[in-house]
Amino acid sequence: MEEILAEALAVAAPQRAAGRVADYIPALARVDPDKLGIAFAGADGTVHGAGDCDEPFSIQSISKVFMLALALEKVGVKLWDKVGREPSGDPFNSIVQLEHERGKPRNPLINAGAVVVTDALIGDGPAEAAIDALLALLRGQAGSGNIAVDEEVAASESQTGARNRSLGWFMRSFGNLSNPVEEVLGIYFRQCAVAMSCRQLARAGLFLAFDGRDPVTGRAVCPWHRARRINSVMMLCGHYDNSGEFAFRVGLPGKSGVGGGILAIAPGHGAIAAWSPALNAAGTSAAGAAALEALVERTGWSVFV
Ligand code: GLU
Repeated sequence: MEEILAEALAVAAPQRAAGRVADYIPALARVDPDKLGIAFAGADGTVHGAGDCDEPFSIQSISKVFMLALALEKVGVKLWDKVGREPSGDPFNSIVQLEHERGKPRNPLINAGAVVVTDALIGDGPAEAAIDALLALLRGQAGSGNIAVDEEVAASESQTGARNRSLGWFMRSFGNLSNPVEEVLGIYFRQCAVAMSCRQLARAGLFLAFDGRDPVTGRAVCPWHRARRINSVMMLCGHYDNSGEFAFRVGLPGKSGVGGGILAIAPGHGAIAAWSPALNAAGTSAAGAAALEALVERTGWSVFV
């Protein structure tokens, strides 16, 4: 496996030059665009890695997958009254669809939808408990207590977060946000600023490859039907207006983040995390997607077999 991972990185490496590091969040603009790493967590919990697989990076929107699992656990299917599950075909921070659809975001993986999910997870409790729940899930599943919020990245995004705040206020005007906008956005910025390595991320996402159950401990992180639904939302919505292209090239559910990470789920096989900070125009890691494409070509993994 380590050989396959190293090969995938070698194929993908030239793609680093095809993308650009996210610069609308100043703290992310400082990350070295040459970084490239990948890790695979399999059924026995062993995590194989190659390249910069031990270096923590900002998981950004990959956090939305774990927040979705937590919010569904908390409020159940009622969540779908507030957020849809259709691909948006629009950029990650688009506001245009929200007006047509009266403040109900298309899906939980675009920014507006993720803000609704965060609001639901906060519920009527203290906002900070939502971050505690996220960190407990990530630390527990990855088996590493050192996973934390990078407060510098969170502050940097908050300082430049006018667009995400606008989405929040807009949804609030339609009555689709229960908590104060500033409180919900504060948590959203912090969940996006969680720093993890490829190894930690692949291990943390492993339950999604095994019907919601951690294959090592046997613990059900979520019921099988919920894991399948989260995977289907990732498949159709995980890369914004680039989701079709990713499904076409990789054929696995995945979620990208503007920190350059991608979490991909190979049901029955394991979870893969790739990282390379330079992004394509839709905000998906250019070399990360290429590495995953090379990996599935070699392994034959696909949800379409
Ligand atoms: N924190 C980022 C934002 O809200 C997340 C976007 C992404 O990772 O795709 O702009």
